[in-house]
Amino acid sequence: MSSLYLSNYDELVDLIAKTIKDVVDKRQCPGKEQGYDIPVGVSVRHLHITDEVLHMLYGEDYQLTKLKDLEQPGEFAAHETVTLVGPRMKSIQNVRILGPTRSFTQVELSKTDGILLGLDLPIKVSGDIKGSLPITLVGPKGSVYLREGAIRAARHIHITPEIAKKINVRDKQVVNVQIPGEAGIIFNNVIIRVNEKYKLEFHIDTDEGNAADVGDNTFCKILK
Ligand SMILES: [Zn+2]
Repeated sequence: MSSLYLSNYDELVDLIAKTIKDVVDKRQCPGKEQGYDIPVGVSVRHLHITDEVLHMLYGEDYQLTKLKDLEQPGEFAAHETVTLVGPRMKSIQNVRILGPTRSFTQVELSKTDGILLGLDLPIKVSGDIKGSLPITLVGPKGSVYLREGAIRAARHIHITPEIAKKINVRDKQVVNVQIPGEAGIIFNNVIIRVNEKYKLEFHIDTDEGNAADVGDNTFCKILK
């Protein structure tokens, strides 16, 4: 009799645990039942930088200091920022450097940023800076004129090989992505980027995020 009681008790505990998990999952991932389960991350204007350029802006042997970790493992927002200056002498201040330093310098801006600076920015996959636009970076110890490096980052989804296999997409594949809601949008030309170090996330810029009303808790789905 006591063992039957205990078994019912365990089932009750399991049921409560499962119910709580369902409620939490739904709160963390609204629309999950409809397949909206990819987190959306909005990239505010930022830059990646080489050690060489960092030293020209911040001084010899300078190293980035971490402000906070980003969603993608190993990446961080640095305390250090730069001022951007465009060809019309218009500027944007406090543009954050993302670490760690890289083998290329690349400034990722929105369409609106480009209009303000006077740059008709090309849409580029991160790392592909050939044919991107010149821009001037100003730091506390110096300034650098980049002959190329300013882009609008192409919309992309970071994804692990396991998840890519599960949902049947491959690296560099171009897909359409839907964000639900009153200001919902279907984004075309979204590039799948597969790497085992990635964390699942759909990345768009501030213009795109604002247009679709993206908040901390927005999820999307790939349309098939
Ligand atoms: Zn990204």
